Amino acid sequence: MTKMTRADAAEIYRRLAAATPEPRTELCYRNAFTLLVAVVLSAQATDAGVNKATPALFAAADTPEKMAALGEEKVGAYIKTIGLWRAKAKNVVALSKKLIADFGGEVPSSRDALEQLPGVGRKTANVVCNVAFSQPTIAVDTHIFRVGNRTGLAPGKTPLAVEEGLEKITPPDFRLDAHHLLILHGRYVCKARRPECWRCDIAALCRFREKSPPPDLAKKPAVKKSTKRLAATPKLREAKPKMKAGRK
Ligand code: SF4
Repeated sequence: MTKMTRADAAEIYRRLAAATPEPRTELCYRNAFTLLVAVVLSAQATDAGVNKATPALFAAADTPEKMAALGEEKVGAYIKTIGLWRAKAKNVVALSKKLIADFGGEVPSSRDALEQLPGVGRKTANVVCNVAFSQPTIAVDTHIFRVGNRTGLAPGKTPLAVEEGLEKITPPDFRLDAHHLLILHGRYVCKARRPECWRCDIAALCRFREKSPPPDLAKKPAVKKSTKRLAATPKLREAKPKMKAGRK
């Protein structure tokens, strides 16, 4: 894979920004606290799945005080449709109590402080810093990990390596939006199983060699079968939230 140049990286971001002029999180939330809870709930779950459960939960509890008062059992009842709900209910109540005890009931704006909360790891903290506090953090989830590796923007074997690579190569003007530009591109175009390279705005700049043909061409019998695997991309295995209240 040829190395990504800064000029090509800048052009990639320009094209992604042109395609998505207002990149935003797809999670529903009311304030910094409900955003934090929604991001914690979204670990190993889809945003759409989280959004089905959270309106009722946030109607009942949109502050740490109300969430702590609701308690683990009732929080669990609201989020039963989300994977790992028992561990997540435990963490949501525990982080609410910690916010009250140590942060005056406010969501802190620093990554280090956020990472002290039960169920909150670096990725969640980066999302909250970016979305709630407009900080230029890049949270590397499974989509960004894949896009960073496939495109050549920031190849890396771990989420942290990809995050650091993206921080280096992302032009300052795009740092704030980079997270959502890349995540939305990964979710809707550069998909895990079959990237839709034929309709990709950044195909000419992307370093991924085995570009997918349009579906009608893909159906025709291949003249020569490639023996290479499609995804020479490292797989990101996200840690499951622990049952005990603790860092993710
Ligand atoms: S060209 Fe294909 S692999 Fe490259 S970013 Fe676009 S969809 Fe992903």
